[in-house]
Amino acid sequence: MLRFSQRNHVAGILALAIPLLSHMFLIEPKPVQAAASKRSMTVEARSFFDQGKAQFAAKKYKEAQASFAKACQISSRSDSAQYYLGMAALYAGNHRLFIDCMTRVVVMNKLKNSIIAKNALVNILKYSRLHPYCALNSQEQLCRWDTRRHPVLQICVSQGLALPPQYQGKSLNITEIKEFRRLFQTGTFVQSLVKEPTFKSYQAQNAVSALRKWDWAIREGLFKYAFTNDPGKADILVLWTPRFRAGGGMEGLTNYFGTNKPGQGKVIIQLNTAGLSASKGNAYAQLMAAHEFGHAFGLGSHSPGADDIMTAKIYYDSDKAHGISENDKAVLRAVYSLDPDNAW
Ligand SMILES: [Zn+2]
Repeated sequence: MLRFSQRNHVAGILALAIPLLSHMFLIEPKPVQAAASKRSMTVEARSFFDQGKAQFAAKKYKEAQASFAKACQISSRSDSAQYYLGMAALYAGNHRLFIDCMTRVVVMNKLKNSIIAKNALVNILKYSRLHPYCALNSQEQLCRWDTRRHPVLQICVSQGLALPPQYQGKSLNITEIKEFRRLFQTGTFVQSLVKEPTFKSYQAQNAVSALRKWDWAIREGLFKYAFTNDPGKADILVLWTPRFRAGGGMEGLTNYFGTNKPGQGKVIIQLNTAGLSASKGNAYAQLMAAHEFGHAFGLGSHSPGADDIMTAKIYYDSDKAHGISENDKAVLRAVYSLDPDNAW
């Protein structure tokens, strides 16, 4: 979801801190939970983890790094394993791995509920210019595309198609989601779409340009996508709406629709034909759409950073507005390096 606002402050620039090892946090991991959850270590991972801790205590940081890496390979969603891998990497001189691991810890936790994520963020801020953020959605799940099921994501930027009027521009309730799920499964979804008369073709061009801002993710191998003209075949479908029910300058909304067939989820982005009009400029419209594509790729939360594409507010003053930041990139990379709670 995205609203616009006028920029009224300048974000501070984080200074690059000089490493001070004595100021690092070390955290005791949570005990193994009886229930096998993605967020706790398996028995096998725990044994590598314990081995790593012994090596870490003996200051054998390279060996500890290798052991923690094995634990993370098995249980990527264990924040303790990622945190310790990061610490061992730092002491072993592998700065890049240290930042990557700490970023994963931040990405898979709601910051306010997690001491380990707060400490990981402190570490990142101390040693880099990055300020990553949580990627969990409102159900506190990490969700992203399963690239084995979707070797090439199909994306349709429709030429003005819209949901039926009663569904346009609103967050759908559970009954409505069930109705769309049924339409997907019967294959009649496309017939439910109507043409939105206020749509102009340059708006679709802006959405395509917005998507292209994410092409770095293709170059880095996170996922691949291709364009399709068939809304029925699209994994990510861009539709249009003349208004948003919530009001308040909302310009975009992204909804995920699951089906009970694995790999047949669908993400629907609705963009505002009135709000993204020519008077506000193409740059602004592209930032708004790029933000919604961020949600569609798996960035489930908003960034507290005003200069990130996933900020809750993109500035109407688009000269100052930023595109996809290094923070956004680091968060998406982390999401695609972790085992998701829900794979689309
Ligand atoms: Zn949003």
